[in-house]
Amino acid sequence: MAFPTETVYGLGADATNAAAVRRIFEVKRRPATSPLIVHLDSEEMAREYAAQWPRSATELAERFWPGPLTLVLPKKATIPEEVTAGLGTVGLRVPAHPIALELIRAAGRPIAAPSANRFTQLSPTTAAHVRKSLGSAVDLILDGGSTPVGIESTVLALTDGGPVLLRPGMISKQELEEILGDVAEPEPVSGAHPAPGMHHRHYSPRTHLILIAPDERPVGGRGAVVSHRADALDALLMPASPKGYAAALYATLHELDCRGLDWIAVERVPEGEAWAGIRDRLARAAARA
Ligand code: AMP
Ligand code: MG
Repeated sequence: MAFPTETVYGLGADATNAAAVRRIFEVKRRPATSPLIVHLDSEEMAREYAAQWPRSATELAERFWPGPLTLVLPKKATIPEEVTAGLGTVGLRVPAHPIALELIRAAGRPIAAPSANRFTQLSPTTAAHVRKSLGSAVDLILDGGSTPVGIESTVLALTDGGPVLLRPGMISKQELEEILGDVAEPEPVSGAHPAPGMHHRHYSPRTHLILIAPDERPVGGRGAVVSHRADALDALLMPASPKGYAAALYATLHELDCRGLDWIAVERVPEGEAWAGIRDRLARAAARA
């Protein structure tokens, strides 16, 4: 079933049931090479599925869980290969959403869940977005209203070579470094991908999306300009804070994507760690297949 988390809606299945997990890939039309995040109700439950639990994992869990941080750690055999795309590691997260936590507790199982949309499309931040993308292919949607964070979790690998930021999100690299010291960023990907979000084109509307400089305006065709600057001319105004912008981003793109426009132009957001997750999603949305 689909359910809300604080990041985006997830399409969940019992993470210990390989057949149920395969259904997720079918419904999303997601390549089997893309691993899923496993959702737990507590650090204690997460530890049951990790083959190693370094002290840094406990420190991060105490600081950021429940919350939008996924920890990638060596997996135990109780997590089937289908969940991790054959990798020896698993992504674990305790979501900060009462409905997600209640669902995990009621199931009494870890829940594997990617975003509840077709592969490469925009992620859903409302139940209506899930229905629009997946239609009758999803059996049940738990409607918890809009998801408050609005973009996918920060993904951090804690494997032997030291911490690596696999996907930026609203928990910034700087916040992680306060606990861990230096956090590395991955080599650019080619071929096998360590993270689902690392497919080149991902999180995209169907409408052509371009990134523009402040007050640059495309010429020709019908389109919409999106800006975070309160004094931007002829633009749909987004919140000026990264937190507000992330919360509104996908709903804005879903809405513009329904209008049959020739283009959506998004003004580049500021530099700096607080905007890194948003810059990443916008760059992917603008990447052509
Ligand atoms: P999504 O389900 O679309 O939110 O994306 C899942 C994210 O989890 C990907 O971007 C990966 O970074 C990450 N992930 C999940 N499992 C693993 C794993 N075993 N190894 C590396 N990254 C993982
Ligand atoms: Mg996704």
